[in-house]
Amino acid sequence: MSAPNKSYDPVEVEALKPEEIERMRDEALAAFAAAGDLEALAHAKVAHTGGTSPLALANREIGALPPQAKAEAGKRVGMARGAVSKALAARQTELEAERDARVLVEEAVDVTLPHDRVPAGARHPLTTLSERIEDIFVAMGYEVAEGPQIEAEWFNFDALNIGPDHPARGEHDTFFVAAPDGSADSGQVLRTHTSPVQIRSLLDREPPVYVVCPGRVYRTDELDATHTPVFHQVELLAVDEGLTMADLKGTLDHMVQSLFGEGMRTRLRPNFFPFTEPSAEMDMVCYVCRGESVGNPDRPCRTCSSEGWIELGGCGMVNPKVLVACGVDPQKYSGFAFGFGIERMLMFRHNVEDMRDMVEGDIRFTRPFGMEI
Ligand SMILES: [Zn+2]
Repeated sequence: MSAPNKSYDPVEVEALKPEEIERMRDEALAAFAAAGDLEALAHAKVAHTGGTSPLALANREIGALPPQAKAEAGKRVGMARGAVSKALAARQTELEAERDARVLVEEAVDVTLPHDRVPAGARHPLTTLSERIEDIFVAMGYEVAEGPQIEAEWFNFDALNIGPDHPARGEHDTFFVAAPDGSADSGQVLRTHTSPVQIRSLLDREPPVYVVCPGRVYRTDELDATHTPVFHQVELLAVDEGLTMADLKGTLDHMVQSLFGEGMRTRLRPNFFPFTEPSAEMDMVCYVCRGESVGNPDRPCRTCSSEGWIELGGCGMVNPKVLVACGVDPQKYSGFAFGFGIERMLMFRHNVEDMRDMVEGDIRFTRPFGMEI
């Protein structure tokens, strides 16, 4: 009987030769060192430590060796694999540190740099003032009413007791709207005042009617410091049983006190408007000097030219002819109306000296008015 075979065939375990193991290990270490970033290292890791890597395959070969050779080969492969995983971890740490340093530089934010400012818009002071006036009347139970800016001549003039031959019709400097065939007589105009909204309101509603009508109106004026061909008015109309001039006066006093502060007063001076009878020009006491500049050369007032009063708008009791034109019985109902220009109020309320500032749309003009609430 022959003795047990204590040797093994070196040909069959070529992969486990010391120099082969070293070569595998060195190739892995070289691949890790050559990996320039974490992605390349991930590929090298699969190639040199994955299930089909040379060292993993060599490890599997160990099982086929005779018992005597297993320990030595196992030790050799184990050491090589240990060296490889240690090198991998070291390179991983190194590349992560490089990446972190690069990200810190690339994504650094210089908080001292000026940022791209997106300029915030600002509502136009004509809008905010108009809304403020509306609010005063809405609080008194009025309803906001609006109408078209291209208006029938009948609404803009005739219904307001301004007949075709009435001199006031010529004073309105009207923009006429051409008919589709190009002829001038379309019967339509760009409304010259917000009064046609009063007519529409009376036709739409049964009395009592309390409406405040803000809106854009047009006149053929050249744009200069005190004129603009497009401007804004607010009008109010109250039609009810038993309304008198005293109601009008009380309403106006309340409005100026709401807009300019306690103690403000108004006065009415006789005037003429076709759509009101009697008619009056309404003044309010100068909100700067409160009338104290009158006859007092030591304290002149630029706002009122030391006259003590500021002209605000026209008003009066609704002409019965207007009520009749709207189907309202003037024997039963009476009414009052009042209208004024928003631009003019903005000028003296905020010391705006040039009307052109209001139409040019420069944000530097509107922004200081802020978001008035
Ligand atoms: Zn004054």
